Amino acid sequence: MSSDEYLRRTAITRLSVTTEDERLLRDTVDAWRRGCQIAVEKAWNRCHDKSAVQSLAYDEIRDRTTLGSQHTILATHQAAENIRSCRSRRENGRKASKPTYTSPTVRYDSRTMTVFEEDEQVSLTVAGDHSRVRCDLVLPEDEDGYQRQYLDGEWEPTESTLHYRNGDWFLHLGFRKRRPETEGETTENGTVLGVDLGVEQIAVTSTARFFSAGELNHRRREFERVRGGLQKCGSRSAHRTLETVGGREDEFVKHVLHSVANGIVAEARRFGCDGIVFEELSGIRTRLPNAAWHAEWAFERLYEYVEYKAEAVGLFVDTVDPRNTSRRCAECGHVAETNRPSRETFECEACGNRNHADYNAAKNVAAAYLRREQQSSRRRGVSRYALKSGAVSERSGFAPYESTDESPNPAATSSG
Ligand SMILES: [Zn+2]
Repeated sequence: MSSDEYLRRTAITRLSVTTEDERLLRDTVDAWRRGCQIAVEKAWNRCHDKSAVQSLAYDEIRDRTTLGSQHTILATHQAAENIRSCRSRRENGRKASKPTYTSPTVRYDSRTMTVFEEDEQVSLTVAGDHSRVRCDLVLPEDEDGYQRQYLDGEWEPTESTLHYRNGDWFLHLGFRKRRPETEGETTENGTVLGVDLGVEQIAVTSTARFFSAGELNHRRREFERVRGGLQKCGSRSAHRTLETVGGREDEFVKHVLHSVANGIVAEARRFGCDGIVFEELSGIRTRLPNAAWHAEWAFERLYEYVEYKAEAVGLFVDTVDPRNTSRRCAECGHVAETNRPSRETFECEACGNRNHADYNAAKNVAAAYLRREQQSSRRRGVSRYALKSGAVSERSGFAPYESTDESPNPAATSSG
């Protein structure tokens, strides 16, 4: 079995720890560090294989520390990994001295840790009497907190690390999930969601979901105002504040982009899509000269976030050449510069179709992908794209969801 069999993610959460549990966890950190150190002392220049280090050091760690049996095994494996990476550094001509364990961490696995997903709690084995402490996970209030998506019962907790930092305990919770069958290789009726990217709407889907950039643009102007004042000031501390403001702005933009990415993936799943299609990002700066919030950087992030989140649910993500997607009529295919009387409005000269310009473009992105699919030798079996009320195929045009068996009816699922 390849290691690719699983998708792996890490969620970092703070723990709420009582004074009594704090003492037990500190003792565990101390015992863990001693255990790892004992294993390294025994195995250094002798072996680096997990099982070899384990049989060499296990008894001594049990004798000289209060670690339980499973934590003792994990400590020998930790030491083996560290010795191995020292060896490979040396093989690459770099220096590597014998590891010393000073940082306040402890490793956990599924035998020493249990995650109670509904209670948002975790229980951790401690050294000494080898009992467990049970702590609350301090998850962000925000429903979009990325950690919550791994507590849905589909992800399985796996190797994790407890960290003590500045008076707080953090758990780097490892999760894994079997990689979903992906890329619709066997289906000929694959469906895609088309997405148009823009300045006033960050993203618009072919199912007519709009993700407004209003808040981003508003916050951007506020940051600009603060920046302007600081630049006039020109002092060294103003320069430092300027950097902090820039960092806060980037954090805010990323936060917004994460929730847009979640929304796009949710939309694709809701409409039973197999993949999500964007326009190619290269040159987006010239296509969107008015984007105020670092357009290129932001759209690259958005694409990455969508790719990452889509992979976890078995959807593919791809791009198409954006040529004419804003000038082409999604209904009749007529292409003209003058099809667009204003930035927001699309109105076809040929057939009179009138629609939101970004929505028209989202349909065109999806349609362009289908046309490319027809000509491609490496086909994904995609033949349709999703609209709000039905799907469009290159061959037979629009078909409402009600009339097809294999396509989910979003209206029915959302009301039921
Ligand atoms: Zn038209």
